[in-house]
Amino acid sequence: MKKSNPLTGMGKGYTLAEAMAEADRCLLCHDAPCSAGCPGGTDPGTFIRKLKFRNVTGAIRTIKRNNILGGACGALCPTAQLCERECSATGLVGGPIQIGKIQRALVEHAWAVGFRPLEKAERRREKIAVVGSGPAGLSCAAELAQTGFSVTVFEAKAKAGGVLRYGVPAYRFDPKFLDRELKDLVALGVVFKCSAPIRGPGAAEKLLKKGFAAVFLAPGLWEPIRLQDSAPSLPGLFTATEFLCALRDGKQAQIGKSIRGKRVAVIGGGSVAMDSAESAWRLGARDVYLVYRRSYTQMPAEEDERQDLLRSGIHFLLLNQPVGYRTGARGRLQAIQLVRTELGELDASGRRRPVEVKGSQWELPVDAVIEAIGAKAVPGGEGIAPSVKRTRDGLIPVDSKTGATSAKMIFAGGDIVRGPALIIEAVQDGKTAAHAIRRRLQK
Ligand SMILES: Cc1cc2nc3c(=O)[nH]c(=O)nc-3n(C[C@H](O)[C@H](O)[C@H](O)COP(=O)(O)OP(=O)(O)OC[C@H]3O[C@@H](n4cnc5c(N)ncnc54)[C@H](O)[C@@H]3O)c2cc1C
Ligand code: SF4
Repeated sequence: MKKSNPLTGMGKGYTLAEAMAEADRCLLCHDAPCSAGCPGGTDPGTFIRKLKFRNVTGAIRTIKRNNILGGACGALCPTAQLCERECSATGLVGGPIQIGKIQRALVEHAWAVGFRPLEKAERRREKIAVVGSGPAGLSCAAELAQTGFSVTVFEAKAKAGGVLRYGVPAYRFDPKFLDRELKDLVALGVVFKCSAPIRGPGAAEKLLKKGFAAVFLAPGLWEPIRLQDSAPSLPGLFTATEFLCALRDGKQAQIGKSIRGKRVAVIGGGSVAMDSAESAWRLGARDVYLVYRRSYTQMPAEEDERQDLLRSGIHFLLLNQPVGYRTGARGRLQAIQLVRTELGELDASGRRRPVEVKGSQWELPVDAVIEAIGAKAVPGGEGIAPSVKRTRDGLIPVDSKTGATSAKMIFAGGDIVRGPALIIEAVQDGKTAAHAIRRRLQK
């Protein structure tokens, strides 16, 4: 495989001068369709207009006041599906304005020159507890801290950031970039308690009794969905959650032993499968097979991600359903068992259903497998807040206008409400709940 292919990657973003030149292409649409295309209200129409007229500090203020993770979103949002898809310059020479890149450059510029766009508000007496430091929790914390609340974020893991730290591979999102964005929250007075899981029966309700005026639940989805219910524990068999998390947790050498020079199958067709396949490739796998039971166009991963992987030499094994594993001596993985599929009638998702072809079983010899077929709520998670209603899948239904759960003064947002979603959607949930908490406490 050619290792010089840049694939995706955080890389160096725009300089301020490049961001200005890009903003100069903006058509200044009266109705700013790009802003309507941002699910988190970051308002690119306004910050690009300000930049075009050289109001750099004003542009930075717009971004960070609307979105505490403006830098992370600028780097990671699938902009082609969101703000940039709505840009009126699409179809003109140069294509849509590169909104994500401008956004990231402005946030980085603020850090470089020490400009602080956010101010601490006068302190209020109420304390708020945020459970989970992923994008939803961070956004809720920042929004409340900006209006004077004392916010404590409880995080189960050793460091803050959720999927941004323990999921998205480091080649796409540098942990130092996240640390810098977290400093903006610390400057607002947000207190982080890491390695401090909220656990035990009624732990969330107990926080209210201990004097927190409201609780925001944002624990995300950390239980991997397995290929088989009684998933075997085999050397060389990983879930994407454990594989990507271990890589971000400094265990590259350990994981690398199972991947370097080996044949690796990654099961799944979404973005997490793409991250897993690319990570395996970067660790030096001999061959990486992406195994997906539907067709290429049905893959949930974005087109450019798929193209990048194809160009790098990752093999796409489409229309194949994994059904099990074959092991050899000492339980070592030897092959993944597959059944060929063909597309049948439309299913509930509006896509043609994969139907197994009878008698088409075959085996692909592999040394390692990464299952990237989704994640769900951690079983038993409902115990920490028994007064909060859950769906059968363990998700938390909320009032979409407030983020309120069925329990008084307990709110929720992010993946635990939506199912697997996007960073900017989690950011929006954090803001929605923060506004509702503020309104309730001002009554
Ligand atoms: C590998 C991967 C790559 C992705 N790439 C992108 C991308 O490029 N762009 C994009 O827009 N989206 C991406 N996503 C999706 C995005 O990261 C999620 O939608 C987003 O992180 C959800 O935010 P959240 O705050 O709900 O949860 P999370 O980010 O999952 O954070 C939840 C936090 O809560 C903590 N926690 C859980 N239980 C407790 C408890 N009881 N007490 C205390 N803390 C607790 C967890 O440790 C975690 O830190 C990706 C997802 C994955 C898995
Ligand atoms: S936050 Fe994301 S979707 Fe919103 S304007 Fe910025 S890059 Fe676009």
